[in-house]
Amino acid sequence: MTDLDDVREWVASARAVVALTGAGMSTASGIPDFRGPQGIWTRSPEAQRLSSIDEYVADAEVRRRSWAGRRDHPAWHAEPNAGHRALVDLEHGGRLLAIATQNIDGLHQRAGNEQVLELHGSIRESICLSCGDRRPMGETLARLDAGESDPPCLLCGGIVKSATISFGQPLDRAVLAAATYAASRCDLLLAVGSSLSVHPAAGLCDVAVSHGARLVVVNDAPTPYDGIAAVRLDGRIEDVLPAVVGVGSDLTP
Ligand SMILES: [Zn+2]
Repeated sequence: MTDLDDVREWVASARAVVALTGAGMSTASGIPDFRGPQGIWTRSPEAQRLSSIDEYVADAEVRRRSWAGRRDHPAWHAEPNAGHRALVDLEHGGRLLAIATQNIDGLHQRAGNEQVLELHGSIRESICLSCGDRRPMGETLARLDAGESDPPCLLCGGIVKSATISFGQPLDRAVLAAATYAASRCDLLLAVGSSLSVHPAAGLCDVAVSHGARLVVVNDAPTPYDGIAAVRLDGRIEDVLPAVVGVGSDLTP
């Protein structure tokens, strides 16, 4: 029995699976990750500064650059990959309790998953930091195309940003609570494509394991949770997930 065979069996016999997904999930869809060796933040600390809420509120130039980044974000043209589709199959099979994702690209929903908890928010909506007005991002980006470089809230004139969680912003409490509850109820947690270095998202692994679930890490680099994982699978997520969910062909060497 290889590790892959073990995991395939665990998935097949699981009653309730939760998937915790991170940037590695979307790299095969052409969306670069942030913390990997080729990650945006690794190569450009400036990009990380752009993700701080304090800088965003204080500096109009940061906002203008952020808006340009949103307009050009690869998420608008990205398509779900075979890894996303494997999780759709798992949900259709009735055994996927939830996906708790650190990704903001909306690709799980595009693939067809319905039980998606976006821990770090979504780039597909904009939100006013003052009055909370939310709208589809397309509506706000249209104002950019029409010439506004830092579009203020149409209702109150407040500062608008994407409905994503920046550094210095708390997670949405209801979303985190739902993810924590799901992690406490699952018997298998698949942590996929996450460095498991960002909390509270990574802490879902602790929640699951402390409630008796088995943890499987699918990531191409070691994580702080490998020690309490039943196994860590290396390899390309778009190959590994279909293989362990039991759809598609076997993993090619
Ligand atoms: Zn407003």
